[in-house]
Amino acid sequence: MDIELSPQDAAFRDEVRAFLQDHLPEEVKAGGAATPSVFVEPEIGQAWNAVLHKQGWLGYQWPAAHGGTGWTPIQRYLFEKECARAGAPNLTVLGLKLLAPVIYTFGTEQQKSHYLPRILSGEDYWCQGFSEPGSGSDLASLKTRAVRQGDHYVVNGSKIWTTHAHHATGMFTLVRTNAEVKKQAGISFLLIDLASPGVSVRPILTTAGDHEVNQVFLEDVIVPVENLVGEEGQGWTIAKFLLENERGGSCHAPKLSYDLDQIEQAAAHESDGRGGKLAAQKDWKRRVATTRLSVNALEMIELKIISEIAKGRAPGPQTSLTKLLASNLRQEIDLLAVDLYGPAGLQLETDRPLYGDNAPSAVHSKGAQVASARYLNSRAWTIFGGTNEVQSTIIAKSVLGL
Ligand SMILES: Cc1cc2nc3c(=O)[nH]c(=O)nc-3n(C[C@H](O)[C@H](O)[C@H](O)COP(=O)(O)OP(=O)(O)OC[C@H]3O[C@@H](n4cnc5c(N)ncnc54)[C@H](O)[C@@H]3O)c2cc1C
Repeated sequence: MDIELSPQDAAFRDEVRAFLQDHLPEEVKAGGAATPSVFVEPEIGQAWNAVLHKQGWLGYQWPAAHGGTGWTPIQRYLFEKECARAGAPNLTVLGLKLLAPVIYTFGTEQQKSHYLPRILSGEDYWCQGFSEPGSGSDLASLKTRAVRQGDHYVVNGSKIWTTHAHHATGMFTLVRTNAEVKKQAGISFLLIDLASPGVSVRPILTTAGDHEVNQVFLEDVIVPVENLVGEEGQGWTIAKFLLENERGGSCHAPKLSYDLDQIEQAAAHESDGRGGKLAAQKDWKRRVATTRLSVNALEMIELKIISEIAKGRAPGPQTSLTKLLASNLRQEIDLLAVDLYGPAGLQLETDRPLYGDNAPSAVHSKGAQVASARYLNSRAWTIFGGTNEVQSTIIAKSVLGL
């Protein structure tokens, strides 16, 4: 693997860097920095999506034939790295990175022409209805039933931990269409309009006080048959494809590296409680250096996966490795941030949002204000998209062949 950039790629990186310098709105950057939850609120995420859409860069992972940029894997990586380096908020991924590839890979022509432009324009905002009470790690045991009646399905059941269902217009969902066959074979992938009668959304507040996830109830919800993606019974294959993208569809290292830089810079101004600066303290330096080495190692693994993708291979089960490493590092870095601010890092402001004119005033600094809430919310990293134990099992079986 050659990690030197070609002159073309270096020019591309410079173009992206210049664009971000001129077009990343300050309020979007500040909103992202002051958001403790894993996903930024749609007013921040969609505002940033709109800037990129205008530039024609929002579908940066999509093929050109479907309205994307058609960029190479290394260009996509450079774009993500530059966005992280500029302090841009995470993109609103559910439609853009999870559903869209499913639509252009498994969808009908009519589904592609209907849904893909609406994801880019922000007209549709999607959430992911996979997990159910009792069916998380063992996703294939899901019980939400979709019974075909003529030209529609009647759906009954409940989805849980559904991120941003309270903002979403639609939910891509795994449903059971056949209970007589092997459990994986009876699952289908269905798009549900959340404005349909029979849908209700109940909030679940995180330990930090954020409203990010929900439970969604589906009672006799009528869903047209044309909302089925792929064949009936193909849902498990589609889910595995989507989960590989969810686990490995992003480069985590550049964002982790940016956050670590911020912490390192702030430590130069924080007292160590003994008359010196935290940045000069031996134990602190060791912690930061150890974390930095792990982030750099993660970046090398991510680059290796990208070079595989560039050779035309699927991301594959190694994405479980990057998901696992990135989740642990995210938690380590968020703990460093809490420790950085001393007692001020323990404040837990529960008013939201923490950005904008009406944000509650911070003790010490905005960084300190968000630290504890972010630390608590990032516990979710080792759970969502498959827990650490589930990723370890995938690595053991599919990567190491144990
Ligand atoms: C903040 C957040 C956002 C989320 N967003 C979404 C979303 O938008 N859409 C969605 O569909 N889901 C979402 N999820 C759900 C997430 O995917 C599930 O929580 C996750 O898959 C774990 O399932 P569970 O909660 O049922 O836990 P369980 O599966 O019950 O696991 C409980 C514990 O048992 C362990 N365990 C389970 N099975 C095994 C095994 N075979 N071997 C070893 N250990 C095992 C787990 O690792 C875990 O520690 C979200 C979760 C969180 C926390």
